Amino acid sequence: MLLNKTNAFAPVTEKAYAKLNISLDVTARRDDGYHDMLMVMQTVSLCDELSITPEPGERVWAVTSLPYVPGDARNLAVRAALKFLELADDQGRGMKITLRKHIPVGAGMAGGSADAAAVLRALNRAYGFPLSSEQLLAAGETVGSDVAFCLRGGTALAAGRGEKLTPLPSLPPCRFVICKPDFSISTPELFRKLDNTKMNCHPDTEGILAALSAGDLDGLCRRMYNVFEDVDDRRMRTVSAAKGALLDCGALGALMTGTGSAVFGVFRDDESARLACENLKKEYRFCCVAEAIGPLLD
Ligand code: ATP
Repeated sequence: MLLNKTNAFAPVTEKAYAKLNISLDVTARRDDGYHDMLMVMQTVSLCDELSITPEPGERVWAVTSLPYVPGDARNLAVRAALKFLELADDQGRGMKITLRKHIPVGAGMAGGSADAAAVLRALNRAYGFPLSSEQLLAAGETVGSDVAFCLRGGTALAAGRGEKLTPLPSLPPCRFVICKPDFSISTPELFRKLDNTKMNCHPDTEGILAALSAGDLDGLCRRMYNVFEDVDDRRMRTVSAAKGALLDCGALGALMTGTGSAVFGVFRDDESARLACENLKKEYRFCCVAEAIGPLLD
């Protein structure tokens, strides 16, 4: 479908799914200032809801349900839309992106990247799929390190800055309970602290991959590990307390996702997860049950 200035695309809606880190390792600090990572990532059902409507004029902007999330080009969803228009050769097209945020901000759940990925998927659909999956992934990478994973979705091993993806077998059936302590953590700040920390422990990524292949949920939960939890930062005590609370409620394993501050526990079934969530809601303002979501791109 070729669009011209009078032939705008039809409004579209899309879900932007959050991610959890089943493991997170930082393997090297690179000369370009980035870090090499090795992460097992999982898409989950907690999501932001997006709608995109064409508008007269050339402005591409976002309105969000949270006053402190910017609506201009600082918003990753806007950046993704501008990148798409460039690649689809439709620069100058105006649009409004409405974001109903449910993914907590600064939680390590890649909320901004998930929104960017959802914009790329939605616009590609609205324009009649001018970009291949590979082109979309390459476009996502230019917007942010986690966008490629958020585009592809499912369960994956992410290497490099997080953009080198290998699909993995799905997790065995389970539920996640996600709690967020009442503070956010800045990703660059935690990376700086990590650089000043001597890392003695690393996740057993091979063991996690073997547990996934064997469908061994207990083995997977035993090996979940995030090196950022070892950073010398007093907020990690609160993170550790949240993990303890999840384990006390019956989680098979608990971990901080990304650079936090959200923490999740893995439960065998929906009933035990809901019960735990009811209990933890007394202590954590943000607490929800989520399930794993499979791949999102063909
Ligand atoms: P990551 O796990 O990728 O480090 P995060 O989940 O910790 O990310 P985000 O919720 O993505 O963090 O937001 C971090 C910052 O990005 C915030 O300061 C916010 O202002 C900015 N931001 C840009 N675009 C968005 C968006 N669409 N939604 C939320 N925050 C956004």
